[in-house]
Amino acid sequence: MSEERSIARHPVPDARNPWVIDTQDLGRRPGASREVVRTIRAETAVGFPDVIEIPVGASYRLRLLLESVVEGVLVSGSVTAPTTAQCSRCLDAIDDEVSVEVTELFAYPDSTTEATTEEDEVSHLVDDLVDMEPLVRDAIVLALPQVPLCRPDCPGLCPDCGLKWVDLEPDHGHEKIDPRWAALVERFSASDSNGSAPEDSK
Ligand SMILES: [Zn+2]
Ligand SMILES: [Zn+2]
Repeated sequence: MSEERSIARHPVPDARNPWVIDTQDLGRRPGASREVVRTIRAETAVGFPDVIEIPVGASYRLRLLLESVVEGVLVSGSVTAPTTAQCSRCLDAIDDEVSVEVTELFAYPDSTTEATTEEDEVSHLVDDLVDMEPLVRDAIVLALPQVPLCRPDCPGLCPDCGLKWVDLEPDHGHEKIDPRWAALVERFSASDSNGSAPEDSK
């Protein structure tokens, strides 16, 4: 009875969704495997708006290996997608791409893994279908830089006139400021260029 309930909790993925892969041909034979290469158009933007994202219409390139194992289907491989971003220092547009490696076991509804694992800790096969979208989305979001830079040593903008330092003369400056303030300004910009997100290191 509890098993029935657990199966019913997983909605059946839509087989027409390009993120959904049918694994039926693996036939639940451990050892059987198949490569899946797919290009999928982004229907929604993924990432951090106005910072970095995979825009609508971009193409995700999936190169995956599906392997039938005792407990389910193991999916591993890489996903690559183009990103559009804005340099957090000079605000230049950055066109780049993000690539992630994924490895995920999609457990059979009646497997030991399914029975012994907390609901949220395992992916599931539903009607032999695997839905790659949540997995890929999470991996991509984690892989995106939260402070994108056009180049690691981007000098940013002059705080006084807002022009890019790369376009300015080396001796560019505005009215003289008190040297004690200058030291303070330098300290702030040094901690600014540190780049890593404060919550990320834990
Ligand atoms: Zn820059
Ligand atoms: Zn200036």
